[in-house]
Amino acid sequence: MERMTRQRGAVIDALREAGRPLSPAEILAAAQHQVPSLGLATVYRNIRALVEGEQVHAVELPGQPDRYELSEVPGAATHRHYFQCLSCDRVFPLEGCPGHLEEITPPGFEVEHHELTLLGRCPDCASKPGKRRKAAARDH
Ligand SMILES: [Zn+2]
Ligand SMILES: [Zn+2]
Repeated sequence: MERMTRQRGAVIDALREAGRPLSPAEILAAAQHQVPSLGLATVYRNIRALVEGEQVHAVELPGQPDRYELSEVPGAATHRHYFQCLSCDRVFPLEGCPGHLEEITPPGFEVEHHELTLLGRCPDCASKPGKRRKAAARDH
């Protein structure tokens, strides 16, 4: 039980320190600093428990594996958009929503929901021209 709590704490700390949604592989890489014996299966198990306990929620992006974010993040429970870096695959939360989508909606159509993800390169990757290497986890 104590081991379980320690692993769960490491997962939560990884998400808190990142300040952005993380993939399970990214959570593993960050949480291993605290619990070196941690494995990916354990990370998945803890994520599942945290999602069930509503401490963490999944961030779903089109065509992407789910990322996870702490529910305590301000605005996390509300409608949000994200920036996905095509170079390092990291996902960053954005402030606000462009809205006013009725302007491009044809007459007679009723919009219930929209999804919008900005794609491009994050500042780290944009400052490294020529490096478009795919990396699952941030190495630091
Ligand atoms: Zn990047
Ligand atoms: Zn929106």
